[in-house]
Amino acid sequence: MLLLIAWDSAIGQEYFQQEVNYTINVALDDRKHTLDGFIRMAYINHSPDVLYEVHMHHWPNAYSNVETPLARQLVKHGKFLFQFSGPENTGSIRNIQYKVNGVDAQTDDTDTPADYTKLILPEALRPGDTAIIETPFFVSLPDAEISRLGHSGQAYYITQWYPKPAVYDSRGWHAMSYLNQGEFYANFGYFEVNITLPSNYVVMATGELQNEDELEWLTEKARSTESWQTTHKNMSFPPSAQTTKTLTYKQGNIHDFAWFADKRYRVAKGDVVLPHSGRTVTAWAAFTDNEAKLWQSSIDYLTRAVYNYSLWNGDYPYNHVTAVDGVISAGAGMEYPMITVIGESGNAVDLETVIMHEVGHNWFYGVLASNERRFPWMDEGMNTANEMRYMEKHHPHLNIFGSRHNSWLMRWLQLDRYRLRDQNYFLYAFNARRNLDQAPCLHSEDFTPLNYGAMVYAKAALAFEYLRAYTGDDAYDAAMQAYFDHWKFKHPYPEDVWPYVQQASGDDAQWVKDLICTTKKSDYKIKYLKRTDSGFDLTIKAKGIEGPVTCTALNDKGEVLDQAWVPPFGRDTTVQISLRNFHRLVLDHDRRTTDINRKNNSIRSSGILRKMEPLRFQWLAGMEDPSRTTLYYTPTLGYNTTDGLMAGLLLHNVSPLQKMFEFRVMPMFGFASNEFTGTAAIQHNLRIQSSRWIENLRTEMSAATFGTGGAGLGGSFTRYELASQLDIRRNPLSRNLSHHVHYAVTHVSETFGIRPSDELLVTTTSNNLYGFLAYELRNRLTIRPYHLMAAFDLHEDFNRVWLEWNGKFVMNRHKRSLFLRFFGGTFLHHDTNMPRYNFRMDGINGAQDFRYSHVFPGRFENNGLLSQQFVGGHGNFKIPTANGQTNSWMVAANAKMQSPFKFLPLGIYADVGFSDPQGLPNAPGILANAGIYLWLIPEIVEVYFPVIWSEDIRREIETRGLNYSQLIRFMINFNEINPFKAIRRIPG
Ligand SMILES: [Zn+2]
Repeated sequence: MLLLIAWDSAIGQEYFQQEVNYTINVALDDRKHTLDGFIRMAYINHSPDVLYEVHMHHWPNAYSNVETPLARQLVKHGKFLFQFSGPENTGSIRNIQYKVNGVDAQTDDTDTPADYTKLILPEALRPGDTAIIETPFFVSLPDAEISRLGHSGQAYYITQWYPKPAVYDSRGWHAMSYLNQGEFYANFGYFEVNITLPSNYVVMATGELQNEDELEWLTEKARSTESWQTTHKNMSFPPSAQTTKTLTYKQGNIHDFAWFADKRYRVAKGDVVLPHSGRTVTAWAAFTDNEAKLWQSSIDYLTRAVYNYSLWNGDYPYNHVTAVDGVISAGAGMEYPMITVIGESGNAVDLETVIMHEVGHNWFYGVLASNERRFPWMDEGMNTANEMRYMEKHHPHLNIFGSRHNSWLMRWLQLDRYRLRDQNYFLYAFNARRNLDQAPCLHSEDFTPLNYGAMVYAKAALAFEYLRAYTGDDAYDAAMQAYFDHWKFKHPYPEDVWPYVQQASGDDAQWVKDLICTTKKSDYKIKYLKRTDSGFDLTIKAKGIEGPVTCTALNDKGEVLDQAWVPPFGRDTTVQISLRNFHRLVLDHDRRTTDINRKNNSIRSSGILRKMEPLRFQWLAGMEDPSRTTLYYTPTLGYNTTDGLMAGLLLHNVSPLQKMFEFRVMPMFGFASNEFTGTAAIQHNLRIQSSRWIENLRTEMSAATFGTGGAGLGGSFTRYELASQLDIRRNPLSRNLSHHVHYAVTHVSETFGIRPSDELLVTTTSNNLYGFLAYELRNRLTIRPYHLMAAFDLHEDFNRVWLEWNGKFVMNRHKRSLFLRFFGGTFLHHDTNMPRYNFRMDGINGAQDFRYSHVFPGRFENNGLLSQQFVGGHGNFKIPTANGQTNSWMVAANAKMQSPFKFLPLGIYADVGFSDPQGLPNAPGILANAGIYLWLIPEIVEVYFPVIWSEDIRREIETRGLNYSQLIRFMINFNEINPFKAIRRIPG
């Protein structure tokens, strides 16, 4: 009985949705950039619950100060405009005085950010009852470059601008702050909006315009655009008319209302007949002279998008579709019901892509109004799947960069074989191969900025396009139209989509769910091919996702003989092939799945090494090509003072998509030393599917040998190293804080030559084994990032431990920064007085780099330009000094401040340090120096010019007889600009 009751209440929770009908009167003041309005909302409680409060959005307050969730998200995404803006750029909504059913009502702002509040209902709102909520409101518009609401001069982008009830659904209230990412969740209802503004503004808005004379005026403008020839751009604002007009818009079945006003707008107009109902929809476009030439085709893009989306998903339910040209910083375009705003495009393909994508949101967001904050894939992912389909239908020849033109470089790098649709695969695979992917079904705030695109848009779209390829268009479209019909003007959740996905696939569609809800990867693999009486038996394996895959037979020209889908299978399955004469079998030949490793997808019918793809050599680098084993090569040149000019060849297998094993070898020949030199490395990247603790483990074995210490002296070093980096998993990946463990074992063999006389060369060789162990804490905050390193250096003759903290403080919108650094280190023991093992106040130079971890073209030079290179570390003094070096303890602090100006790569620095005075004759006191510096790449390539220095250093300079040019030093940290390392350091 109890069980029955529990069951009853669980299924008794029937779908409901609230309804809000709005009347808004608003006037624009285009001198003060403000809106003065009054809003009346009929809030109808269709829920089974009695409501005592209504959560209200006050969106414009997201722009009210630099502590709002929007401000914090902008900073997190590296956008500092708002953070460093003056008060004239901020925005707010004020003068709110709620009345509910005519009675004054209070709000409760405790524990809510500035941009939402709880409206306390004076009287409880019972199921089925209506509350009339009214208030005046006054909006100061922010600078439109901050996000999406605002003004740019007298161009107005009026979005998310009025007081608005949050959604209350079966999961409760969904009050949320305005954010740039994961914007919408709103109640359906009926809108009547009356906008008053100077009469020479062109206004485009959600809803149907009721003013006949205004419609006639717009249509007349559209006619003049047809005959107008673009001559020169005029982007200045004409003066505002003295008279005003009031425009009325009405619309039902929408959940938001946006409007755009600009006196400069040209207008275009067209129409489209819908494929299913035959109804006609009017298309409007409004644009400035900025990209007018491109926008003259915008009506074609609008109507084509409406037609295709209607055909595939169900007819467009409204009477107009509109696109306006706008300066928005947040993304290329933005959707609102019936109207979209499009940023600067640059070319026709991009403009068409953005317009069609944003128009598509009328289906996936507008009509199917899912909760984008919580499940952004339901609108962005499903919409991007339609985008991929649209672009392939209308632009099948576009290459991966969205261009018709394959440059010589693209052909050379064999990038021309990839089509536009492969873009999404590479976006997904770039992070998935590094274990930095995230499940598309996460909350919008849990994604890293890159993954918001790579997972929510790209991977989710790939999943739906994969499904369509498998089911065929008819079954897929029937399912999507059924979803649309059932859920239109409602709020579907993921569990409401799955039945339609299953309808399309004809099975449980677990593989689609896995693609959306997990980070499981797909890897289809050919195990073996056996000849049988009737043909062949092909055994294939699915690792991870158990989905369907195509099997294609090719002849020796690479032409398709036959192709069929293997339905979803678990682990191993055997496919009988009745074809007898074919050259090769390939899985996923059309690249329709999300197969993360396509290198194991092919087998030849005969021969040896049947699974191995033909070997290909390619210059420099390229995208991975599953049909070939590609080795990249490039001639290289190098230089150091001993080997002189070096020439050689770099051979590697590294491409943007990380492989499990990656190698690079670079044999070289030094023309001064007549010696072979070079480097070699092999790296193993552990592919961890689902470890809770480990994000990545990279292990590298490397070797290097080069000459050192003067031509003709036979000096050289050979170094072997085994090194690992372990990244502890961040959960979620968007966390700023990350923990890393590094270790390295390095064997260095060094040969030094001395020439006591012209005839005699004495060489000595020493071998050393070094250990290195470090813990690193990184905080990736964009405005105040820091990292902390605690490290041990181990050797049979000494052990030392050191701690280094580096922080960066962004000071202005140009990201000019203050850098602070603290260092402390001490020896635990030492049995040697080798000065190279000391902590040095002036950082690590060539001689100090005993593990040979860095590149020093003039490693042991005592004078000349190359002797003035160092790589920071220890005391990190920029002036050269032997003062303060110690095999005891040392502390130091460093500061650098960049000039605040955008185009001036100049700054000032200061260093101060102190080391153990014990046992040192004439022990220096506190050492210091300061000066100015220039940078090419901040923190990586910099040049330092000392200006002042402390007394001990002054005496040393005098004693050594150094002139000023010898005090100038530079940092080049070659390790940081190594492209092989840089590409893997791109944040997930
Ligand atoms: Zn979108």
